[in-house]
Amino acid sequence: MAGGSSSTSVAGVWRQGVRALLAEVSDAIVSVFFPAGCRICETLLTSASRVPICADCLASFARVPAIVCEICGRPLPGLARKEGEPLLCPACQDRTYAFEKARSFAVYEGAVVRAILLLKFEQIEPLGAWFAERLTELVNTEAAALAADVVVPVPLHRERQRERGYNQAALLSKPLAKKLRLPHKAVLLMRTRARPDKQVLSLEERWESVRGAFATRPGSQVDNLRVLLVDDVLTTGATLDACARALREAGAKAVIGLTVARAVRNPLPSSIEW
Ligand SMILES: [Zn+2]
Ligand SMILES: [Zn+2]
Repeated sequence: MAGGSSSTSVAGVWRQGVRALLAEVSDAIVSVFFPAGCRICETLLTSASRVPICADCLASFARVPAIVCEICGRPLPGLARKEGEPLLCPACQDRTYAFEKARSFAVYEGAVVRAILLLKFEQIEPLGAWFAERLTELVNTEAAALAADVVVPVPLHRERQRERGYNQAALLSKPLAKKLRLPHKAVLLMRTRARPDKQVLSLEERWESVRGAFATRPGSQVDNLRVLLVDDVLTTGATLDACARALREAGAKAVIGLTVARAVRNPLPSSIEW
């Protein structure tokens, strides 16, 4: 018999069949013995995926539209790119941010808000990995502009991290670094001042609460590196900006912000209202 590789042999075919059968059986076992509802709509989950959200809810996340500010990624509905001119929001025309670019996967509304709460408060790692795949796709659509040397999560203050036991941004940045085949540096940045306890912060308070609140860890090497900075939500951009300033001061060449979601109804950090 020519060839005789295991995939065409009787044993190989049998093994493949068994494997397919086992996959089917394991799905069935999971749904019989661990009947779980989608954590968003409560539809019974029938696949053995470890992401506790159904396919319909995952598909319902509203993607950030295609026309965005070239720097901060803010959607700019109704605007068109003028030949030879970058499309910039008023904040970026004022050079507000210290990061070179920021991009997000989804608009912070509807089901994605609940998904991010699950990530944040229940440490659902498979969901972090699912979002990391979406962020990888996002990076690949603008590969040259978003190219980086290292992936860094936005850090929590150490007391907050001790309370929670993990940093939700690292649940995204770690699998993202793996997919992009970049080094992951979870301890490169640190938050030196905690967020105020107040639940709702005004726009000014948001900027004030993060100004100078981050620093690079002594001895960490960022010189001349392009840093991919990862967080769950971009609200005003103040946090990414404060982290980017700390990284740039330590010698980073550029900082690219990447978040799962972004709030679009928030006013801009300039006086111009939209
Ligand atoms: Zn669902
Ligand atoms: Zn902008």
